[in-house]
Amino acid sequence: MIEIDGSAGEGGGQILRTSLALSMCTGLPFTLTKIRSGRAKPGLMRQHLTCVNAAAEVCGAEVHGIELNSQLLSFAPGSVRAGDYSFNVGTAGSCTLVLQTVWPALLMADAPSRLKLGGGTHNPMAPPFHFLERSYAPLMRRLGANVELTLRRLGFYPAGGGEIEVAIWPAQDKLRPFDLKDRGAKVEGFAECFAPALPRSVARRELEQLGAALGWSTDQLREAPARQNEGPGNALMATLVYENLSEVFTQFGEKGVSAEKVARDLVREVRAYQVCEAALGPHLADQWALPLALAVWKGQCEASYTCTELTPHARTNFEVIERFLPVRFSTLGAGNGWTVLARPA
Ligand code: ATP
Repeated sequence: MIEIDGSAGEGGGQILRTSLALSMCTGLPFTLTKIRSGRAKPGLMRQHLTCVNAAAEVCGAEVHGIELNSQLLSFAPGSVRAGDYSFNVGTAGSCTLVLQTVWPALLMADAPSRLKLGGGTHNPMAPPFHFLERSYAPLMRRLGANVELTLRRLGFYPAGGGEIEVAIWPAQDKLRPFDLKDRGAKVEGFAECFAPALPRSVARRELEQLGAALGWSTDQLREAPARQNEGPGNALMATLVYENLSEVFTQFGEKGVSAEKVARDLVREVRAYQVCEAALGPHLADQWALPLALAVWKGQCEASYTCTELTPHARTNFEVIERFLPVRFSTLGAGNGWTVLARPA
């Protein structure tokens, strides 16, 4: 039984999701204490409960402590079953985080799976659908894991109601780690604004401000299609495509925050990435650690990546991953970024 302290490091929900994912992949049971104890509302929220229930369904786990606000959980996995699954957060909580919980295990299954996920598709503090589709999934495919994502309906806080479909093919024997040290040459950059059920002027102001600050032309600024009933919601997104990877940066509009501020915050994020040479941005850097570690474990050879920033999320994820897998991470400051090395223990 692996004992994980949920208050360590970043102390958030990611510790739970990484533990669930790797417990399913390895068959190792775990207990998690002090779940999200550092957060304003500690314990399991609805989104986290959906992750635990989804994980339990995928592998027939024996679980104790699945209750709203629970700060103690034990999870003993059974064997992972491929299949057709439907998981709905039931609120506007992020359904992409549910996907990240079960995705690694379904890659280890012996047959393809199809998932329907319901909830928020574009939430602050979670990977937006387009980040998973454009940044994460292509890297997963290069690792040997074939996944396809389809956005059926946008979902924003507070209404939720988003829908994503995902197809996952078994990759257990195909995972091969690779180094990701350079972005490669720049291919294109563009911005999109999703603003269902909001005045069109909101999207226009955000895009114009962003375009002016980044020196982007009008054909790089796109009002993204959305249906009225997918709102209200507002996500401003910048996609930077390079030869070796794409990065997607997102800021969210909300009541009381001006369109100009949303654009300014996104410009700051994009510039922070552009002034560095490292390959991965801060969010990809923490999320890439898990699939890479699985590939290092399965392929028994080391691999590295460079990133612009090492956040508490990334460092905490390394620590949790090392508790489940015979893989060790080391980090080294390099230029104005970092190099992360994952090697078999
Ligand atoms: P808590 O409420 O405890 O903070 P949580 O369950 O919402 O927890 P975190 O532990 O904060 O989640 O993890 C959030 C995850 O979402 C991290 O992997 C982070 O990199 C990712 N993430 C947050 N914002 C973005 C973004 N704009 N683009 C891509 N990924 C993001």
